Amino acid sequence: MFESLSERLGGVFERLTKQGALTAEDVKVAMREVRTALLEADVSLPVVRDFVKRVEAKATGAQVTKSISPGQQVVKIVHDEIVAMLSGEEPADTLKIDNPPAPILMVGLQGGGKTTTTAKLARRLKEREKKRVLMASLDIYRPAAMEQLAILGTQIGVDTLPIVAGESAVQIAKRAKTQAAMGGYDVYLLDTAGRLQIDDVLMREVQDVRDAVSPRETLLVVDGLTGQVAVEVAQEFDDKIGVTGVVLTRMDGDGRGGAALSMRATTGKPIRFVGLGEKMDALETFEAERIAGRILGMGDIVALVERAQEVFEKEQAERMVKRFQKGLFNMNDMKSQLEQMMKMGGMQGVMSMMPGMGKMAKQAEEAGFDDRTIRRQIAMIQSMTKQERARPEMLQASRKRRIAAGSGVDVSELNKLLKMHRQMADTMKKLGNMKGGMLKQAMAA
Ligand code: GDP
Ligand code: MG
Repeated sequence: MFESLSERLGGVFERLTKQGALTAEDVKVAMREVRTALLEADVSLPVVRDFVKRVEAKATGAQVTKSISPGQQVVKIVHDEIVAMLSGEEPADTLKIDNPPAPILMVGLQGGGKTTTTAKLARRLKEREKKRVLMASLDIYRPAAMEQLAILGTQIGVDTLPIVAGESAVQIAKRAKTQAAMGGYDVYLLDTAGRLQIDDVLMREVQDVRDAVSPRETLLVVDGLTGQVAVEVAQEFDDKIGVTGVVLTRMDGDGRGGAALSMRATTGKPIRFVGLGEKMDALETFEAERIAGRILGMGDIVALVERAQEVFEKEQAERMVKRFQKGLFNMNDMKSQLEQMMKMGGMQGVMSMMPGMGKMAKQAEEAGFDDRTIRRQIAMIQSMTKQERARPEMLQASRKRRIAAGSGVDVSELNKLLKMHRQMADTMKKLGNMKGGMLKQAMAA
C-alpha cells in the first residue's frame, strides 16, 4: 500500500525544530514529499509541478497552529488546496435538465463505463428527481452494446429507444429526440460508441450527433484508474466536442484518484459523479473532500487536526485551573468560560450533558438566561479595555455607560454581568482553596 503523505511528512519534520511559522527551508523539504505523493496518486506531472509551486508559496511563512506539527500543517494546506481546486462553483449533481426533453450526451473511450453510467444516471434521475427518462444506444458498431443498454433499462425500469437495424448514429439520435418529445420524456440520454483510443472518425460522428440534438450536458465518462491517459482523453474530447462535466468510474478500485485533480486542472471541467461499482446504484455525487483525502492517503487528517485542537483546549483549561487556584478570575477568564459554554452547545447543550440538570436549565431559561444572553455577555466583555477586563472593580458609572453603549445593552444588564462575575469569582476562590482537587476534576470532566 501507499505511504500516506502525513506519514512521509512526519519523518521529514521530526528532524526540524518546532517554530512559529513554516520557513522556506521547511517547505522545500516538505514539497519534495508532496510531489512524490501526488505522482504516486497518478496526478500528471505538469499538474503536480504547477500545484507544488502554488502550495509552496502559500505554505512559506504560514503559522503553525500550536500543538500541530509542521508536517501536519503542510498536509492541511495541501489538502485544502486540492479541495479548492476540485470544487466547482455549483453542486456537482446539478445537471441542466430543465426545458424537457433535455438531451444528455455521454461520451468517452470504449470500456470506460459509458453504458453502465448512462443507466446508473438514468436510474438516479428517475428515482431521485422523479424524471421521465429515455435512453438510446448509438453504438452501431456493436449490436451487443445496444442489447446491453436495453437489458439495463429493463432492470432499472427505464425506457430504451427500440433498436432499428441499419441506422446511423445521427439517425438514432434524431429518432430519440422525436420520441422523447412525443413521449413526454423529461430527459433523454444518448450513449455513444467508444473506441479503444481517440480517432477522428469517432470524433466526427460524435460531433454530428452533438449538432443534431444540441445536448444540454455532455458528460465525459472516464476510467478513474487510468491517470495520465484520462487527462489526454479529457482534453481531446473537450477540444473536439465540448464537455460540460466528467464522470470518474472505477473509483471503487484501489486507484488513488489523482486523475480527478489532473483533469480538473487541465480542462477546468467539474467532476460531477463517481462510479463506485458495477451495480446500478453505485453512482455518487462527486465530493472534493473525499477525493482529496484519498489522493493524499490521509482520511485521518481532519481527526488529526481536531485532536490537536482538543489538546490545545486542554492546555488552556489547565492554565485556567492554575489561575483559579490562585484565586484569580477576571473578565477574560469569564469570557473563556462563556465561549466554552457556547461551543458545547449553549445552555441546553451544557445542561443536557449533566444528569439531573434539565430542571436547572429550565429555571435558567425562565430567569432569562439563554444563549442570546450569553452572546450579549461575551459582547460586553469584548467592549471592555484590557485593564477593565483584568480589574473589573474599576468599572465606575461612565465606563459602564461606554461599555453598555459599545455592546448595545442597558447598563442594568451590564450590572447583572458584573454581579454574576463576582459570584463566580467567589465560588472559584472557594474551590481553589480546596487545593484544586475538586476544581481539577470539574474542569477535566
Ligand atoms: P463502455 O464501453 O464505456 O460503455 O463501458 P461499459 O459501461 O460497458 O463498462 C465496461 C465494464 O466496466 C463493465 O464490466 C462495467 O460493469 C464496468 N464498470 C463500469 N463502471 C464501473 C465502476 O464504477 N466500477 C466498477 N468496478 N466497474 C465498472
Ligand atoms: Mg458501451
